[in-house]
Amino acid sequence: MQGRQVILRAYRQPFEIQEYDVPDPGPGDIVLQITQAGICGSDLHTWRGDTEANPLPPQGRAMGHEGTGVVYKLGQGVTTDALGQPLQEGDRVIHTAILPCQHCPQCLRGDHNLCVHRVLRTVGEFPYFIGTFADYYYVTPRQPVFKVPDELSDEVLGPVNCAMGTVTQGLTVAGVHEGQSVVIQGAGGLGLTATAMAKDMGADRVIVLDRLENRLRLAEEFGADSTINIEEYNTPERRIQRIKELTRGRGADVVMELVGYAPLLPEGIAMLTNGGTFVEIGLYFSGQTVPFDPSTLVLTGKRIVGSVMYRPTLMSTILDFLVRNRYKLPFHTLVSHKFKLEDVNEAFTQSEWNQRQTPVTRAVLVP
Ligand SMILES: [Zn+2]
Ligand SMILES: [Zn+2]
Repeated sequence: MQGRQVILRAYRQPFEIQEYDVPDPGPGDIVLQITQAGICGSDLHTWRGDTEANPLPPQGRAMGHEGTGVVYKLGQGVTTDALGQPLQEGDRVIHTAILPCQHCPQCLRGDHNLCVHRVLRTVGEFPYFIGTFADYYYVTPRQPVFKVPDELSDEVLGPVNCAMGTVTQGLTVAGVHEGQSVVIQGAGGLGLTATAMAKDMGADRVIVLDRLENRLRLAEEFGADSTINIEEYNTPERRIQRIKELTRGRGADVVMELVGYAPLLPEGIAMLTNGGTFVEIGLYFSGQTVPFDPSTLVLTGKRIVGSVMYRPTLMSTILDFLVRNRYKLPFHTLVSHKFKLEDVNEAFTQSEWNQRQTPVTRAVLVP
């Protein structure tokens, strides 16, 4: 049995689709059959070569990190998922997308997303299926898997193990809790998910900023209490003033940056109340800088935290959240386009948002 794996050999060039024999899973491992794989914003950055700090290996890079699958083959000794639920071939599962070393101090305290010795796998070497833009995906015990509850359709699962995990981790790091005001900069897939999650964590007021009116309407469907169109409030001063008005003059407890635009950092910090937390998630590729006066942190006790990916345990939290809200929140609308795996190049061309408008909010590849 053979399967396909999408590989990036050179930036901005068409992807190659390589075929490999599907390996049998070793003891403790699982081979998944991929059912869908989302094209994440970071995949587009990788394709463009924006991630210079992380150069392309000579063998290229296997593409895809978010996605879902069903158990194709269980390795010896694998009988349950991470929560102890029985696991069989054909079961739908979510896997965590991080490959931690499991031995560094960060891993030992459960912060697998902050691992300092992440495991890198090489294209063309065992286990071959190392990215989710593929027919199969090889999971080792480093990546806990969680059985998908029957109540959930495949439609809502796409963003679970990247976008949803990432924003939930950010809200958790900021300590969002009941009664707080949370500002979300950017109403894309991440922002909509963050809006719903912040409400679920008890936020009293979630305020979402974007320039596209249709996205802001969608944010309301995901639970936003107020929205701000940045074309209308077209200076940082006006936006900061508006946040103050919407929070009874206090300012926000948490501001989360999901756009990837450095000037949103000083603006977001100015939106905070004293002791508030600014969470940087959007800007994960280097190169942008912004002038900033650190004394504004000293005098107000405000914090800046960065956040990347998620602790594996959040996967089950998110699945429970989706079950609880399955009739309430339109998560099934987040995926706007589906492409066949062999049409991956077309999918990327259509998804590209750099210096152009695209109707694609979220595309998935289906093998
Ligand atoms: Zn991602
Ligand atoms: Zn580690």
